[in-house]
Amino acid sequence: MSKHTCHWPGCTKEVPPAMWGCRNHWFALPKELRDAIWRVYVPGQEITKTPSPEYIVTARLVQEWIKAREESKP
Ligand SMILES: [Zn+2]
Repeated sequence: MSKHTCHWPGCTKEVPPAMWGCRNHWFALPKELRDAIWRVYVPGQEITKTPSPEYIVTARLVQEWIKAREESKP
């Protein structure tokens, strides 16, 4: 059994499979990114383990946004 954890880098909080991440980190994302994820999310993809190419691209955008944010910290 693999646990589903928050996708925020370094966060190990367990979240429901349909959720991108924990509440804190989810709401740390800009609304545009959250909307983008819901647009491309397909119910059941966490079971089939085959997210759409659009989801993979969006998930990567989110990781890049987080990385840029972390790097801009003092
Ligand atoms: Zn988190």
